[in-house]
This record gives sequence, C-alpha cells and structure tokens, in this order.
Amino acid sequence: MIVGERKPLAEIWQMVSQHQRLLVVGCGTCVTVCLAGGEKEVGILASSLELIALRQNQNLKVVEKTIIRQCEKEMVRELEAEAREVEAIVSLGCGAGVQTIAEIFAGLPVYPGLNTSFIGIPEEQGVWSERCAACGNCILDRTGGICPIARCSKSLLNGPCGGSQNGKCEIDPTIDCGWQLIYDRLKTLGQLNKLEEILPPKDWSTNRDGGPRRIDRGDLRL
Ligand code: SF4
Ligand code: SF4
Repeated sequence: MIVGERKPLAEIWQMVSQHQRLLVVGCGTCVTVCLAGGEKEVGILASSLELIALRQNQNLKVVEKTIIRQCEKEMVRELEAEAREVEAIVSLGCGAGVQTIAEIFAGLPVYPGLNTSFIGIPEEQGVWSERCAACGNCILDRTGGICPIARCSKSLLNGPCGGSQNGKCEIDPTIDCGWQLIYDRLKTLGQLNKLEEILPPKDWSTNRDGGPRRIDRGDLRL
C-alpha cells in the first residue's frame, strides 16, 4: 500500500490560513490503513484547524468528508456538493489523490495534508516500512522475493557492499541489510546459485528516469 504521514499542523495552517471555508477530504484506502488520512484523521485535522482559527480570532468553517478512493475521478466527483460550498480543499490522500482532486475541481486551490512516503507494509502497530520503489521492471524472481532496490540502502543489484555488520546496514544500523535478507532467503530456498548470475545494468527508463510513466492497456478500452 501507499504509506503517508500527515504534515505538521503548523505547515497545513500556513497553507490554508487565508481561507474561511475549507473542505478536508480523507481517503478510505491506503492512508486509512496507515492511519494518516482516513475519516478519524479528517475529524482531528478539521477540529484542530478550527481551534487554531478560533484562537487567532479568525472565522473558519471546515467541512469533513471521506471518500473510498481519491485516486479515481468518479469517486472524487462525489465531492461536488461540498466543493461548491468552500474556498479550498485539503486532501489527506496521497499525491495521486491530491492531483485527482485538483484535476476535477480546477477552480479551487487543493492543498496536500500528507507527505506521501513510500510503497510499503505495516510491520507492527505504528511501524511501516518500504518494500517497493516502483522501478517498473520487477526482479524479485532473482532475489528471493526481497527487493534490492527498496531494501538495500544503496540499491545494489549484485550483492552487498561489504559494510554490513551483524546483518544490519552500514548506512542505518537500525535496519536489516537488504542483501543479508536476500542471501538468507535464497539459502532457505536452496537457490544460492542465483547469486552467481550477474544482473546486467538495470534499464532505469521504466523508473522515474524515463519521465512520467503511463500504462495504456488498449485491450481494456471500451
Ligand atoms: S524490483 Fe522494482 S517493482 Fe520489484 S519490488 Fe523492487 S522496486 Fe518494486
Ligand atoms: S549494508 Fe547491506 S543494505 Fe546497507 S548498503 Fe550495504 S548492502 Fe545495502
């Protein structure tokens, strides 16, 4: 899932302080699961902004709404009635959600309430970690199902850098060395021979280096 983290309240207030009527929109998918931008977080943010406004003798009315997904235009259109009543929108969705809302409501300022962090998983209550960097050409079959791009701090493709100690990364000793994990997993699978196959330099054009990416499935078009 996409993992995000709410921006500091002061930063959000700085974005919206000139407005008197705001819509704060949550997203019911990834950012609800990572407890950053669901219905509950919308309520907390809306109340906090109104409280700041009250303390500063400013007039602010905040409308709250959470939709199933902010990254689908049809679902974002469900906000039409609320959007007509406000001067601006704060999205608690990921960056794709913010931009979908901005596209649908072109006449309204749309502000990001979250920092979109990474594609990852929950590790334990309150802890999420990265698993995929969306490189666009998956090589997990070669590395025992553990991503060397997202989980090695140097994104090395052909083995460790040699700096790990006790299975921890030399860049950040609080995280496991991605290549130690790959080695251990391949050993468990009886596939250590895969480490002898040199991966060629990766074609990064499928990553961000090739510009904005797009998938066009002509077979699915109506
Ligand atoms: S190899 Fe690429 S697509 Fe596969 S998990 Fe890693 S970053 Fe994601
Ligand atoms: S210690 Fe391991 S995870 Fe860290 S940079 Fe080196 S190979 Fe990558």
